[in-house]
Amino acid sequence: MSGVIVVQQQQLSGQQQQAPTAGEGDAPRVVELHTQPPAGRFNGVPKGVILHSSRSGARKTCHEEFEGTAAWNGANPDGLAWNATVGDDEIAIHLGPDEWGWNARRASSQYLAVEFAQPTEAVEVTDGQVRAFCWWLRSHVLPQWPALARNFPTHAEVETRGETGQRDGKSDVFPMGDPRADELRARIAARLDDQSWSV
Ligand SMILES: [Zn+2]
Repeated sequence: MSGVIVVQQQQLSGQQQQAPTAGEGDAPRVVELHTQPPAGRFNGVPKGVILHSSRSGARKTCHEEFEGTAAWNGANPDGLAWNATVGDDEIAIHLGPDEWGWNARRASSQYLAVEFAQPTEAVEVTDGQVRAFCWWLRSHVLPQWPALARNFPTHAEVETRGETGQRDGKSDVFPMGDPRADELRARIAARLDDQSWSV
């Protein structure tokens, strides 16, 4: 076996080790659903992205919850709006990266916001949702706001810190102090640090 062939084989095996599993690196299914007008546009770089979750409370699959939440963007009577609904390797785009909607009272105009499809608090955010969220950041948000901080508070956290200006008892995506919030952010950070995929 020549040295050249050995090198080629090593490269191949290296590629195989780095190769993502099925579906990773691919864009999610994208649905454009601009069904609620923006409440305003950001004057400067948003502080980050508020992580909400939908919590219908019903026994639904992630896809069913995604469909219902995405439709709710245009149907809710309070005019609530968020930038994107995040499903399992699927995402609905509702607002542009320069636009904000009412979703966290006073904090609304300071942050971008997404809704993770999560039927109940007990249901974990899937790897496909992390992929779809990070894809949206890279493809939509960072081109507009390259200096955006990796600041991804949950709705529960911005409320507890007083940023919303009112106590509503929000507990999405996880209750205040729940370690699953940091775990979710660690998965997001790992995905954003992974340069093996592109948009
Ligand atoms: Zn929320």
